[in-house]
This record gives sequence, structure tokens and C-alpha cells, in this order.
Amino acid sequence: MISLDIAPFKQALETEGSVVIVPHKNPDGDALGACLALYHFLSEKRFECQVIAPNGYPDFLSWLPGSEHVLIAENELDKAEDCVRRASLIFTLDFNDLSRCGVLEECISAATGLKLMIDHHIDPRPYAEVIYSDTQMSSTCEMVYNLITNLADQTALTPAISSCLYTGILTDTGSFKYPAATSTTLRIAAELVDRGADKTLIAQELFDQGHLSRFKLMGRCIDSLEVLEPYSTALMYVTEKDKHECNFRKGDTEGFVNMGLQLKGIHFSAIFIEHAEDRMIKISFRSIGDFDVNAFARAHFNGGGHKNAAGGRSESTLEETLNQFKSLLPHYLTTLKSPLS
Ligand code: 5GP
Ligand code: MN
Repeated sequence: MISLDIAPFKQALETEGSVVIVPHKNPDGDALGACLALYHFLSEKRFECQVIAPNGYPDFLSWLPGSEHVLIAENELDKAEDCVRRASLIFTLDFNDLSRCGVLEECISAATGLKLMIDHHIDPRPYAEVIYSDTQMSSTCEMVYNLITNLADQTALTPAISSCLYTGILTDTGSFKYPAATSTTLRIAAELVDRGADKTLIAQELFDQGHLSRFKLMGRCIDSLEVLEPYSTALMYVTEKDKHECNFRKGDTEGFVNMGLQLKGIHFSAIFIEHAEDRMIKISFRSIGDFDVNAFARAHFNGGGHKNAAGGRSESTLEETLNQFKSLLPHYLTTLKSPLS
């Protein structure tokens, strides 16, 4: 763990140059919320500031204040690379390995600007000069809250910043459910509400604006559900055919993997989603209790994440990937069957 040492951040912010802020590929509420909160904070301080996402973000985040100014690197690569090359400071938020920033990986790796990482994933790669890395944190947004309130007083928390930070905390904690949401996290969330985050509106924007396509896909996904009872495991999948027939939109399958854990007795849930255009199967893993999905994703599916929430990928067919997954489970029988602690 590298806890918050405010001095190098203060020193970095004495720079005159421009600032680039980058979330991971397929940014979620925490990644984009953290980037936009920092963007608002630094813009107020008169920095020339640009959030650059490696690729697009889902519709349900498009209400986030400032999201209209986010540059999507996959759509405007030359412009994005030029911004990265010119930047004096490059903040990388909610990831800790440059392979997580898609088309921007090489450009950021070669850039001369000072790199600053703020992140809560396990095993940070040492690509950044300034690192704030704490796996105990509920979210990168909680960490950006700590950064902002150490650099300035609480009045810096404008309604826009508060809304962005609250969004990341809410989404990364499963609406405050996961163990990483501590009493401190709840106090921070309460303060963000006091400072203008509209908790009812935010929850509606995030969770109650679903498209019909999402619900149709959810039906397919539930149809695919297989319970592997001896291993307390549930698996689901979504095929390209399902996506096509249900008019898939980006973000539609967000959170589906959690449905597996709603089944009584299930400790491990996995979802396999075909991505024909990237020629791979994107996999999400979730667990409750001791089963470490980060280690599992790293060991077998070229991925990573956190102990109870991780992702990975496979270049094999869906059928082969599912078979591979099932064949691995017996090796983990003891942990998968152990009672929840
Ligand atoms: P999700 O399943 O929602 O895509 O991701 C769950 C967690 O695992 C997130 O914290 C995400 O950053 C991480 N994660 C997802 N996919 C990958 C991957 O391919 N590689 C790594 N290292 N982490 C991933
Ligand atoms: Mn996060």
C-alpha cells in the first residue's frame, strides 16, 4: 500500500503546463467519476485540463457533469495522443497497469509528462512517478476525495465534484454493500450529499434509465445460467447472437455478473460475453468470502482486479472458454466450499 503523501501532489500541481486525466478502458462509474471530479477541481484552479478516455463510456454515465468534454481516444486518436504528448501532468485513475488504457498504452508509456497514479487495485506497476495506491479503499473516488480535501478545504467540494465522487463510491461499492465500504466511506458519502450530490437523482440516473435492450439481454443471460452446485459457482454467458437479436448497446450487460451471487449458496459468479469485434470473450468474476477472483483471473484468464471483483479475457471460442472454466473449478474446491467468513 502506498498511502496518500500529499507533498508530491502539491509539488506536481505547481506546474504551469497542461493536465491530462485518463480512466481505464471501458470506464465505469468510479473511473469516470474520479476523472471528472479531478477535472472540475483542477479546472477551478485554472489548469488547462483534458479527460481522455481510451474508448466510450456507457450511456448511463452521460449525465455526469463535464462528461460532454471527455475526449474519446478511439474516435480522435491523433488529437488524444497530441494532448498526452504535450501534457506536463498525466493522472491515471482507477487502474495501475498501462495495458488497461487500450489505444493510449504506448503513447502514455512514451510520454514525458509526470505520471501520477491514484488507484485501489492490487499490484500496481511502477510506471508512475507519484503513486497513491490503496487496496483497502472502496473506490478511486474515495481516494480523489482524500486528495482534494488534503489539497484544499471542504468548500472545494462543489455540487459537480460531489456528484461525480458520490457516483463512483456508489457504483464501486454495490450501493454501499461491499465490505470495502467502511463507516468512513459512508461519512464521506454523507458529506458529498450535504455538498450537493443529489442521491435520489443519481441513483435514478444510474439504475433506473435502462433500455429495453438491457432487459431483453438480461432474459437471455438468466436463461444461460448454470449452477455448478459442488463448487458453489454460477456461470452465465451472452453471445454475439443474443447481442444482435436484443439490439445490444454499450453498457447493457453491466452488473449482470452480480445476479449469480443473488442465488442462495453461491460464492462465485462468472459471466462470459462474446466480443466478436475484439475477437475475444470478456469475462467478469465476482465472489463473496475468501475465494480470490483476482488471483483466479490472473492465473487463467489474463486479467486481474480485486479479491472479490475481477475481469479477464479469452481468445478461445465461447464453448472452449466455458469448458476451460469448468475444468478449473475442481482445483479450487476447498476454498469454494469453505463457509463464508
Ligand atoms: P468488470 O468485471 O466490472 O469488468 O471488472 C471488475 C474489476 O476487475 C474492475 O476493478 C476492473 O478494473 C478489473 N478488471 C476487469 N477486466 C480486467 C482485465 O482484463 N485485466 C485487469 N488487470 N483487470 C481487469
Ligand atoms: Mn474502482
